[in-house]
Amino acid sequence: MPAPCPSCKQPLGLDLNFIIKNPVMQCPHCKTVMKWNVNEDIQKELEGVLNELQDIKRKYKGIATFG
Ligand SMILES: [Zn+2]
Repeated sequence: MPAPCPSCKQPLGLDLNFIIKNPVMQCPHCKTVMKWNVNEDIQKELEGVLNELQDIKRKYKGIATFG
């Protein structure tokens, strides 16, 4: 990621999080409908990363400020 459109090769500017939430979408350039295969492994991996971020935020609360 970011993944280009498989049909017209235009960059879609999508991140993994968006694709997981929108596994079926239409290319804004050529209107091709795409279906992303988001398997459980990728989904679990993303959840793990997000949880880790939450942990880091908690750990450093009061020391550093995150976005
Ligand atoms: Zn396209």
